[in-house]
Amino acid sequence: MTGLYNQRVDANVVVLGTDNVGKSALIFRFLTRRFIGEYGDTESLYTHNVVVEGREQTLNIWDAPYSQDLSPVSLTCEKRVQWADGFVLVYSICDRASFNAVPRLIQTIKSNKDILGYEKIPIVIVGNKRDLHHRRTVLSEEGRLLALSADCQFYEVSAAENYHSVLVVFHGLVDRIRESRMSVKKLAGIKGIVKSMSAVFARRRTDSL
Ligand code: GDP
Ligand code: MG
Repeated sequence: MTGLYNQRVDANVVVLGTDNVGKSALIFRFLTRRFIGEYGDTESLYTHNVVVEGREQTLNIWDAPYSQDLSPVSLTCEKRVQWADGFVLVYSICDRASFNAVPRLIQTIKSNKDILGYEKIPIVIVGNKRDLHHRRTVLSEEGRLLALSADCQFYEVSAAENYHSVLVVFHGLVDRIRESRMSVKKLAGIKGIVKSMSAVFARRRTDSL
C-alpha cells in the first residue's frame, strides 16, 4: 500500500453508550449541524464525507442501540467491534449509571478487538448534555481520569447547544484512526525486517553446519 497519507480512506465508527445519553443527537448534529430533540431508537448506518486537515475521508457511522447483552461473548457485539476502526463512547453528565457503563464498554472493545499491531485502539469518551450542568452527577475530572487510565481521548459536549464541540469529537477520532493505521504499518514494517533478519540468520546457521 502506498501513500496512506494522501489516499482517501474509509473509516468505520461505532457510537456506543446506554439509552438516552444522546448518541443519535450527537450523530445527527455532526451530520446536519442541527438538533431536533427526538430521534427514535432505530439502529442506523450513515455515510458522511469529511475533510480533516485537508484530507477527504468517508466515515461510516453506526448508531448502535444499547443492548444489555453487550458482554464479550455476544456475537453482535463482536461484529460491531470487529467492523469498527474507531469508537465513540457516550454517557450523560447527569446520568451516573451511563458513566458507570463506560468501563465495561472499553473492556468489551479491548477484549474483542484484535489488538495485535495496535499501539492504541482509537476510542473517544464523550460526556454529553453539558448544558444541563445544574443536574450534573458526573464531574469532568471523573471523565478525564477514566480516559487517562484507559488511554482514550475525552471531551465534554452538548449536542443540544453546540455544533463545534461535536465536530471536534469526530475529527479527534479521525486523527486517532489515522495514527493507529500508521502505527500498524510501522509495526508491519518492523515485523518484515525481523522476519528477513531471522531468515538471514537461519541461513547462516545452516551454512555453518
Ligand atoms: P440515545 O438513546 O443515546 O440515542 O439518545 P437520543 O439522541 O435519542 O437523546 C435522548 C434524549 O436526550 C432526547 O430527548 C434528546 O433531545 C436529549 N439530548 C440529547 N443530547 C442532549 C444534550 O446535549 N442536552 C440536552 N439537554 N438534551 C439532550
Ligand atoms: Mg438513539
